[in-house]
Amino acid sequence: MQLGSVQITRIEDYHGPGLAPEFMFPAIDAKMWEDAPDWARRFVDLSANRLLTSIHSWLVRTPHHTVLIDSCIGNHKERPHVPHFNMRDAPWLQRLQAAGVQPEEVDFVMCTHLHADHVGWNTRLQDGRWVPTFPNAKYLFSQTEFDSWDARRPDYVARPFNQCVFEDSILPVVEAGQVQFVEEGYGVDDVLSVESAPGHTAGSVKIRVSSQGSEGMFSGDVIHHPLQLHRPDLCSSFDEDQGTALQTRIRMLDDCAARGSLLMPTHFAAPFCCRITGHDHQGGYLPDWNV
Ligand SMILES: [Zn+2]
Repeated sequence: MQLGSVQITRIEDYHGPGLAPEFMFPAIDAKMWEDAPDWARRFVDLSANRLLTSIHSWLVRTPHHTVLIDSCIGNHKERPHVPHFNMRDAPWLQRLQAAGVQPEEVDFVMCTHLHADHVGWNTRLQDGRWVPTFPNAKYLFSQTEFDSWDARRPDYVARPFNQCVFEDSILPVVEAGQVQFVEEGYGVDDVLSVESAPGHTAGSVKIRVSSQGSEGMFSGDVIHHPLQLHRPDLCSSFDEDQGTALQTRIRMLDDCAARGSLLMPTHFAAPFCCRITGHDHQGGYLPDWNV
């Protein structure tokens, strides 16, 4: 996709059936699907009782830099509590290369938050050691987010689904001296800017892209599934603070509606992104999928 002077390419790690709806959204019921618009039902396989999902990165080429937003699940990573993520061997890196980018050419890796499915390709296994996949990149993390996953801190609270992630996907890039902590307002090339988006995790961020009058939003996990456009009140079981996550989601979607922004989440299945054109009459939002 071209957005002003910026070229955006989706790099896929996984696309297909995901979690059971009631596991992802404990408050969901069958009536919610019946009441939902047709477009929302295209993102669920009701006979298999599975949400359709994707796990992808967004590759952003500005006129000056190559930027990767989120780095998916990664290969050969031990994920004892998440079977789908455990010891994968997927051609994500080959897909990046097919998009015309060698790992050495990535200038910035921006992680919206530090969950296993957003940091996996930060590192790869080389001679039995985890090394940064992108040797010349700065990895941009929120300090708040980093602190909440820093297993070396005395106040660290372990969360089983993210076990091993700090050790294999975060610490190796810190030790390589490639991490830069960024706060609200940090920008890359006057086209990308970091905005705080707490709730899903304490230090989650979203990343705004703005170029030549065109607007887009890389939303990380502020929104997980298109049904939440119709029912923004639906909170994911992975949202750490559901009340804050809901406020953050509504603020972001209102902003997208006001600006006609392209919404680019991490987990929407095909066609993966939409433009928010306005509000419906029930507290939801109107997406245009023909982008
Ligand atoms: Zn995620």
